[in-house]
Amino acid sequence: MAKRDYYEILGVSRSVTKEELKKAYRKLALKYHPDKNPNDQEAEEKFKEAAEAYEVLSDEQKRAAYDRFGHAGVGGAGGSRYQERAYEDIFSQFGDIFGEGSPFGDIFGGGGGRRRRRRGQRGSDLRVTISLSLEEIATGVEKRIKLKRMVPCKECNGTGAEHANAFSTCPTCHGHGEIRQQAGGGFFQQIVVTTCPTCQGEGKIISTNCQACAGKGRIEQEDVVPVRIPAGVQEGMTLNVRGKGHAGVRGGSSGDLIIQIKEKPSELFERDGNNLIHQLFISFPDAALGTQVEVPTLSGKARFKVAPGTQAGKVVRLKGKGLPSINNYRTGDLLIHINVWTPKKLPSEEKKLLSRLKKSPNFTPAPTTEEKGFFSKMREFFGG
Ligand SMILES: [Zn+2]
Ligand SMILES: [Zn+2]
Repeated sequence: MAKRDYYEILGVSRSVTKEELKKAYRKLALKYHPDKNPNDQEAEEKFKEAAEAYEVLSDEQKRAAYDRFGHAGVGGAGGSRYQERAYEDIFSQFGDIFGEGSPFGDIFGGGGGRRRRRRGQRGSDLRVTISLSLEEIATGVEKRIKLKRMVPCKECNGTGAEHANAFSTCPTCHGHGEIRQQAGGGFFQQIVVTTCPTCQGEGKIISTNCQACAGKGRIEQEDVVPVRIPAGVQEGMTLNVRGKGHAGVRGGSSGDLIIQIKEKPSELFERDGNNLIHQLFISFPDAALGTQVEVPTLSGKARFKVAPGTQAGKVVRLKGKGLPSINNYRTGDLLIHINVWTPKKLPSEEKKLLSRLKKSPNFTPAPTTEEKGFFSKMREFFGG
């Protein structure tokens, strides 16, 4: 039977662009994929046909040869060996066409070596913890993180080879990067594909190792990574700096630097989300007579008036004096929690003075409804 024209198979014109070609092939591959058409001989043939056509037309040299000489220019006389190659390659093509994470990619994902070959091995992630003061968290801060990490070897450009020609074809897989074994019946069961264990799928091995890195393509080095910590971070949050983890092995991509945030305890403030809480202690006479106080904030001191007759446990809210939220949504408040200091040791003269005051009806507790409701207000403030 005469072979069909490759352009005709894919339903494209002879002037088709690479993009259009890809699209046309993808459509056909999805339509005739054997997983979608089980036990359908015709679909399987069409699937293979499209794969072969795409393999030729997507390769500039092969396409030029095909344009000039037709099937004879690319397939050779018998074409059977060529056909075999075409099937092998459709799997590596799929990697490009469907991409990782595409719904179609799953079909090819689990099947061993069918995945697209990737060079090298990804470097591992690096984890560091940094401690920040509340002041630093309030404004955000630039940190220079000193660490030891694997970086690509400069001598060999991360390849691990002594020089550009210090590679030879992998003797195990003869450069294919994959090992094929016959098994079972049916289209997909015919060949079991696994990544070559000798070259890890690279198809070549290093014949002379780079001396600087002993063939690993990376070396350990002290490094300083500048990191911008945004304002409003919280204890336990992690920031990911892409590519600043360990370099990959022989050209593999780098891991990430993962920064875990720790909060330095503050003597002045407790943190509650974006709000800060400060415990203020005033004397009993100040609570009774009223006074002017100074309290610390993250941006210097603030003054406010304590009204005469202030009860212990009153909370004064200084709006916007808390911490910014990481998404700039709302800045928190500073909550001044007023405590009335009760004297612990008194000389007898002061005791007598207080005993006299005690007899005055003004010293008998008579809380207002609002003051009785204080505890429910506390719950509102502290989210309990
Ligand atoms: Zn190999
Ligand atoms: Zn090296």
